[in-house]
Amino acid sequence: MDFDFDLFVIGGGSGGVRAARVAAGETGARVGLGEESRMGGTCVIRGCVPKKLMVFASEYAEGMHEAIDYGWDVTIGGFDWTRFRTKLEGELDRLEGVYNKLLLGSGVEVFPQRATLVDAHTVRLADGIEKTAKHILIATGGWPLMPGLENEELGITSNEVFHLEALPERLLVVGGGYIACEMACIFNGLGTKVTQFYRGAQILRGFDGEARGHIAEHMERHGIAIHCGTNILRMHKGAKGIEVTATTGETHVYDQVLFATGRTPNSRGLGLEELGVEIGRRGEIVVDEYSQTAVPSIYAIGDVTNRVQLTPVAIREGMAFVETVFKGNPTPVDHELIPSAVFTQPEYGAVGLSEEEAREKGPIEVYSTAFRPMHKSFIAREDRVLMKLIVCAETRKVLGVHIVADHAGEMIQLAGVAVKMGATKEDFDRTVAVHPTMSEELVTLKTPVRRA
Ligand code: NDP
Repeated sequence: MDFDFDLFVIGGGSGGVRAARVAAGETGARVGLGEESRMGGTCVIRGCVPKKLMVFASEYAEGMHEAIDYGWDVTIGGFDWTRFRTKLEGELDRLEGVYNKLLLGSGVEVFPQRATLVDAHTVRLADGIEKTAKHILIATGGWPLMPGLENEELGITSNEVFHLEALPERLLVVGGGYIACEMACIFNGLGTKVTQFYRGAQILRGFDGEARGHIAEHMERHGIAIHCGTNILRMHKGAKGIEVTATTGETHVYDQVLFATGRTPNSRGLGLEELGVEIGRRGEIVVDEYSQTAVPSIYAIGDVTNRVQLTPVAIREGMAFVETVFKGNPTPVDHELIPSAVFTQPEYGAVGLSEEEAREKGPIEVYSTAFRPMHKSFIAREDRVLMKLIVCAETRKVLGVHIVADHAGEMIQLAGVAVKMGATKEDFDRTVAVHPTMSEELVTLKTPVRRA
């Protein structure tokens, strides 16, 4: 059968764009791509990129106070949200243009509209035109999940947070995951009075317990009011803002309420189930290790499969898909030992197992140190850095590295290489320290603080 395309990709985010580009550019495949919103997807338009730029903006206040203590004569004015937002929007426009250019340069035909499935080889575009393809790749990402409260529409999600008309004076962040903690730190840095409700016992569930405690303590010391074991009982619009009654019974007024209560795969309304594509309990498209669905011509990558919701993982999955389907080299995606960073202030970089997870698997040694780094102790700041290694007592392999420090994201990328290579504690030990740095502690940790 003659198809219009060899590949049709639905979704122009990190994973979809990469797969389309590589399939067209490197294998000469005829590729079409449909995107209903802006090219670049969550990462570029409403996630990683604008978030990181906001992190940079928000760190200056602390930086300026530190500069004063280092001897600089600095006068700190206010933060001009409108000026920043205008610049941010310009940058996102630029990046979207880059993505479009890359796709066109690779010979991908872009359809700026929604695409849904008609059958295993046909998509229908929003304007009614149908296109056939030998393979279809779903890369539609995810979407913020609201908690299902009455009047929750008074609140916003991470989708809207970059477009606020004004910087809120009082912000309530709901949730304790990556997005909630990052946003709480960002707005705190920008001068907003931030309250965070988390329904569990400690923020950042799933990460290393010691690191979670360290970050929470730091956030609170810097002015964020974290309320664990707390949720919204009810909310409504009052004369002075959004009136929120917490499950603890207290009522406070906020200018904005940000729900960071998780994300859900964008799998609805695409016509997938009708074709026999399996959808999991959380709305995720069920795929095998080659990202293939139950319908052989349909594949799915990225957040819509709810495997690991991270941009570089979606990109890997996209590349592995092209390798498998267009280069004849079946390549499963390796989801083991993925380093990641939470861009709280201070940052948290982690790779491998948490102490709690490692303990379940066998005997371990824990090497951990918390100290005031040179940069902060010079100006009498209380902020401490945490460096932690989890080591398997039998194989001596480093099972997990946890760093809470400024630039931990940069550090964990490199530590991730060693852990992925299977480095032992002794490999870390025989590496000479880079002095004076914070990360030198990773190679000078002498005695375990505990064995478990
Ligand atoms: P997470 O799943 O990490 O966190 C969701 C949070 O909301 C949890 O604390 C959860 O509580 C809480 N929650 C869920 N439902 C409710 C509810 N009904 N009421 C109150 N609280 C609720 O999701 P995020 O949205 O923060 O992030 C989504 C994904 O995006 C992350 O998993 C991550 O993979 C990715 N991401 C990565 C970043 C990075 O790499 N730096 C940055 C941002 C996002 P509980 O713990 O009890 O379930």
